[in-house]
Amino acid sequence: MSLFTASLNSGSNGNCYYVGNAEEAVLIDAGISCREVERRMTRLGLTMRSVKAIFISHEHSDHINGVHKLSARYRLPVYVTPRTCREGRLTLSEDCVQTFQAFTPITIGNLSITAFPKLHDACDPHSFIVRCGEVTVGVFTDLGLPCEHLIHYFQQCHAAFLEANYDEEMLERGRYPFFLKNRIRGGLGHLSNTQALKLFTEYRPPFMSHLFLSHLSKDNNRPELVHDLFRREAGATEIVVASRYVETPVYHITSTATHTAAMAGSNYTVNNAPIVARIPPPPAKPSQLSLF
Ligand SMILES: [Zn+2]
Ligand SMILES: [Zn+2]
Repeated sequence: MSLFTASLNSGSNGNCYYVGNAEEAVLIDAGISCREVERRMTRLGLTMRSVKAIFISHEHSDHINGVHKLSARYRLPVYVTPRTCREGRLTLSEDCVQTFQAFTPITIGNLSITAFPKLHDACDPHSFIVRCGEVTVGVFTDLGLPCEHLIHYFQQCHAAFLEANYDEEMLERGRYPFFLKNRIRGGLGHLSNTQALKLFTEYRPPFMSHLFLSHLSKDNNRPELVHDLFRREAGATEIVVASRYVETPVYHITSTATHTAAMAGSNYTVNNAPIVARIPPPPAKPSQLSLF
């Protein structure tokens, strides 16, 4: 058993993460438009036909902006807690709304998705892990602090999307008003590079093949800075920055070895060589950019 995963976008302008096997997949959050999801999946050789459900982590717009259209167009169930649904004013058709409870796995085909609560300034925020057989991928963004649940589930992941939102000095010296700086770093906002690195170095399981640095701040972080910081400590774990402008390649996550997959249609070509850098398409129109 193995999983394929990609970030379709990561950051305060929209989050959407694809996790699936050869038959079925789920999207974690849908914070970019339906059209952008389709466009980026097509570029990656992924198809919406495989997507069986969307899971929503919390009600902030960068996690829900595309959910109505996606769910309506593909008749997709949306797994969301009642409080998040209310607070996010989600007006999904009744037969599409499904709920979930923390720590109770939801089965979709051969996938098992487990939610757990997290610390963030939202009404009912959760993170998710997706399992297929022995392989686990975690999506951990929008975290005020690394809580015990995060540590518990991080230690089970073969690959994880982990928030590294800001460089502490850049935030401190930056142009944000004081109240906003404190909201970001105050325990219910976002994880700093240092906090994420500490979690990684102290709790990374020996089998973690990929770490995707996620939800980077546009103003208070730099992709190459945080990539360097982690790569120095990464050992055999491949460090990838999930961009706020483009999708990542699709990565093949297994329980035994590190592979990067190049996908064409439904045929997966897997090899051990690092993926050749693709020419990134031009940045999407920067809609709904927020300060974080
Ligand atoms: Zn967010
Ligand atoms: Zn948020």
